Amino acid sequence: MATFESLGIEEGLLQSLQQIGFQTPTPIQEQAIPVLLQGTKDFIGLAQTGTGKTAAFGLPLLQLIDKSFPSPQALIICPTRELCLQIANDLEAFKQKKENVHVTAVYGGTAISQQIREIKRGTHIVAATPGRLIDLIERKAINLEDIHYVVLDEADEMLNMGFKDDIEFILKETPNRQSTWLFSATMPKEIRQVSKRYMENPFEITVGKANSANTNIAHQYYQTQHVNRYETLKRIIDFNPGMYGIVFTRTKADAQHITEQLIREGYDIEALHGDLTQAQRDKVMARFREKSLELLIATDVAARGIDVQGITHVINYELPDDTEVYTHRSGRTGRAGLSGISISIVTPKEVYRLRQIEKLINTKFNKIDIPSGKDVCRKQFFHFIDKMLKADISHGEYEAYVPVLEEKFENISKEEVLQRVAALEFDRFLKYYENSVDLNLRGGDDRKGARAAERSSRGGRGAGNGQYQRLFVNLGTKDGFYKASFLQFILDMSRLSKDNLGRIDMKEMNSWVEVDAASARIMIKALDGKNYRGRRIRMNDAESGGGRRRG
Ligand code: ADP
Ligand code: MG
Repeated sequence: MATFESLGIEEGLLQSLQQIGFQTPTPIQEQAIPVLLQGTKDFIGLAQTGTGKTAAFGLPLLQLIDKSFPSPQALIICPTRELCLQIANDLEAFKQKKENVHVTAVYGGTAISQQIREIKRGTHIVAATPGRLIDLIERKAINLEDIHYVVLDEADEMLNMGFKDDIEFILKETPNRQSTWLFSATMPKEIRQVSKRYMENPFEITVGKANSANTNIAHQYYQTQHVNRYETLKRIIDFNPGMYGIVFTRTKADAQHITEQLIREGYDIEALHGDLTQAQRDKVMARFREKSLELLIATDVAARGIDVQGITHVINYELPDDTEVYTHRSGRTGRAGLSGISISIVTPKEVYRLRQIEKLINTKFNKIDIPSGKDVCRKQFFHFIDKMLKADISHGEYEAYVPVLEEKFENISKEEVLQRVAALEFDRFLKYYENSVDLNLRGGDDRKGARAAERSSRGGRGAGNGQYQRLFVNLGTKDGFYKASFLQFILDMSRLSKDNLGRIDMKEMNSWVEVDAASARIMIKALDGKNYRGRRIRMNDAESGGGRRRG
């Protein structure tokens, strides 16, 4: 029988394993560890949850890390903050007898500045959710030069959650990867694609039979307060461009209400409920079937018996009163061998109902973090770029215009054109989401946390009241900024974090920025006297008379 020692695990780690009571390797550990310890092979491990995958990749990682070298060498990408923390904890336990290897967990929904500090202090292994990691990459807060190993944990779940582009982005940003290890319970098409693109001749193992029950419908839930239900729905819709789905409500009034609100906000959507005449219903259904309508808000009664091919998502705006009804709803997707996702928005009080449904359908729900505004924007951006690349130009008369276009764009670089196109399509989302709040519930302190998040993201006077210094700067909307891009600009220039800032007031010609007192000097030093589009930036302490005070 195999032992951890016979698989090649080193002494320090063996001691830790003994301490935490891992006596014999599980099947996936037995098969994966010797391969992964080589550190050069790409690897795919298919196994159900609870089979010991964390140690299967965690032990080899800990052993392969060169701890004398103080930069991140391994990334573990996983779908949720809970998993991220759990992996980091497990690794801590595995390495307790092996000193000086540092593991850091980074995930959204908490202050990024603390995580940046932790990374700066020196870390070897970073366990991250895709969104936060990209945030760090974009802020240049993490050095990926020396990343040799990338682990994708719960890859199928990450794809279900819409992280495909993010994962590809991360894989592209790690050019010195020596090996990529992918773990998953199932093997959908998209994972094959990712592995074909980014992995070289992967060594593949399957342990037990890969999850087979109900694999074509993934059941997910998002937890939030009741007041945030509508906002959460919108995030989910915005985070899934191209979604073809049905949103179920419990009552006609809800269906009508949500539909009206969404239409007012520019969504192409219709309601299907019992108050419509048969003719109206037929019309709605016809539009939905031919996909000129991608989302339908429906009550259970009205949607009874709908059989439409290719529905990607079913969203339970609220859980049905009758648990059986859940099966009918979710059964609208995942038909004819296609995969689908059934999403439920629940409040903490409703979680027990989810558990009842889990028993009934004999499948576990996965809790998913509600995407942040930033996640949504990035998602929309990638989607738009894909759409642009896929646009069919073969049938138009565009060629005739090419000479004119060439002349118009003569002095503009390709980069600039791309940025301009993106801005046209995309500013709307940036603007909408620039001050978006975290809709997730946090630990025991949920309510307080949500309120604090709201306060701080509105740039309001929360805990930092009185500690901010108000700075004047001679840049404003006239310079082509709006709040989000301005924020990005001053953060990039100063290398400070959003957490260091309070309220930003923008006017046409100038703006006021609240910065925590400790960082004000850094901000001034970084901006004052520098150039922006040929203009000299002037930044100083507003209270000392540099800028006009607000009335
Ligand atoms: P997965 O990632 O495959 O879902 P985990 O890595 O989370 O599984 O492991 C599931 C449980 O099994 C954990 O509680 C872990 O501590 C335990 N476990 C893993 N490997 C062993 C082992 N070799 N011996 C005993 N317990 C183990
Ligand atoms: Mg796991």
